[in-house]
Amino acid sequence: MPSVSETPFRLLPQITPENEHFWTGGAEGELRFLHCAACDTLVHPPQPRCPQCLAGGLSPRAVSGRARVATFTVNHQPWIPGFDPPYVVAIVEIEEQRDVRLMTNLVGCDPEAVHIDMPVRVVFEARDEGIHIPLFEPDPRGGEADPSGGGGDADR
Ligand SMILES: [Zn+2]
Repeated sequence: MPSVSETPFRLLPQITPENEHFWTGGAEGELRFLHCAACDTLVHPPQPRCPQCLAGGLSPRAVSGRARVATFTVNHQPWIPGFDPPYVVAIVEIEEQRDVRLMTNLVGCDPEAVHIDMPVRVVFEARDEGIHIPLFEPDPRGGEADPSGGGGDADR
């Protein structure tokens, strides 16, 4: 069980066939998790079988990228070169399935304003080798559900 004080995502992850969808989905602006079609469950971290029903053959699926802050700490230590404190290390829960949690950094917000259950959305930080690190920023739409963009002014 990783602790919250562990450095999140600052060292580039080891890409494997099992987790490649997760680390490279940001190239298309997609946050992706393995999905079990047998029981309609998102599985994270990646593993060969669904922990719920033990089915194999999981395949990546894109989610909305919306999440909520489950817990966070504000780090004041400048132990990452080029990354100025204070910054926020958070665990976020994915909107589609709240037991899918990511350790990440919150960006684009005042660390003082961060709170538990704050609505956030994914942004990607492009790195070498096609890796896109998922970070999260405040979601201006708040917690309201987006009715799948049926309107005419949904350009982004
Ligand atoms: Zn399953």
